[in-house]
Amino acid sequence: MSQFLSDKFNELCAYVPGEQPQDKSYIKLNTNESPFAPSSKALAQINNNTMESLRLYNDPTSKVLTNAIADYYNVSPRNVVTTNGSDEILAFSFLAYGTGKKTAFADITYGFYSVFSKLYSLETRVVPLTDEFEIDINDYMNLNENVVIANPNAPTGKTISLDEIEKLCIFHKNDIVLIDEAYVDFGGESAVPLIKKHKNLIVVQTFSKSRNLAGARIGFAVADEQIIEDLQRIRNSFNPYNVNKLSQVLGAYSIKDKEYFLQCTNQIIKTRNEFSQNLKNLNFDVLPSKANFVFAKHQKLSGEQIYLKLKENGILVRHFNKPRINDFVRITMGTSDEMDVVINKLQKILE
Ligand SMILES: *Cc1c(COP(=O)(O)O)cnc(C)c1O
Repeated sequence: MSQFLSDKFNELCAYVPGEQPQDKSYIKLNTNESPFAPSSKALAQINNNTMESLRLYNDPTSKVLTNAIADYYNVSPRNVVTTNGSDEILAFSFLAYGTGKKTAFADITYGFYSVFSKLYSLETRVVPLTDEFEIDINDYMNLNENVVIANPNAPTGKTISLDEIEKLCIFHKNDIVLIDEAYVDFGGESAVPLIKKHKNLIVVQTFSKSRNLAGARIGFAVADEQIIEDLQRIRNSFNPYNVNKLSQVLGAYSIKDKEYFLQCTNQIIKTRNEFSQNLKNLNFDVLPSKANFVFAKHQKLSGEQIYLKLKENGILVRHFNKPRINDFVRITMGTSDEMDVVINKLQKILE
């Protein structure tokens, strides 16, 4: 840290992404990426003309991508804003709505919520999950605070229902309810249709997990037009060219390729269900997951031991050195062959 950094950032603990080691090739199951290639129809759209046009700025309104997302969800393009990964739309939302009002989120959830709150010096309320690692919406009622919920939650993989989300919206008429649906395509139900009824609801999604485009950095929010105007105001005050030209094209054509999307997500769901059962057969406790990962623990080994042993065996998973979830590891779904390797190695490690 230099002597020049503003004092208020002395205590800022940055988000720590899952490791991306280059020392050898791992079966990489630690950052919830997809094991599958991006849509070939989307990749085919990137040609020499696209490359040469990089000389010019990209469309600051991301029209092609925005329209494709609006079509997919049957909403108006005025209900959609696109960003550089969904982390960026989360940042814009915290910035836009978090000043002068507390923001409530779970103790065990996506790490960026607390990082953004610190970055922007926002007040927060941390609401513990239940003993079963569930969100009890009664804990959020009558708070008069903004609410941010990942649904499915990470790293637990557990969901709340659309009924519960509606209740949250109704009880927080004067607050923002933000639902982060990074994993919704793996068996959850999207709250997007509710934005027509609830003017305070923001639904956030990403192309990083279910659309196989983590490295293209594409995220978006769907909400009432006035909310989108707010978020556009923030976006245009920060970086109007936030979604680069290649990603606009890749995103638009990959969301149009519904067939491939369903093929990939259905495969992940199938692999997850089989893998969960195989873990249970090895006496793991496995939380029921609606995401592209499972969260599991074993009586005989600590979370850290499982993480280290798997790493020795060329498999990377995520361990969070945090209270309540110390015993667990989060394992992203790879191909079913990769998950068979994981089961074999775990079997040997347990012997
Ligand atoms: C992965 C993830 C994101 C962010 O994804 P981007 O790559 O920035 O789009 C947001 N929320 C949750 C809960 C995530 O797990």
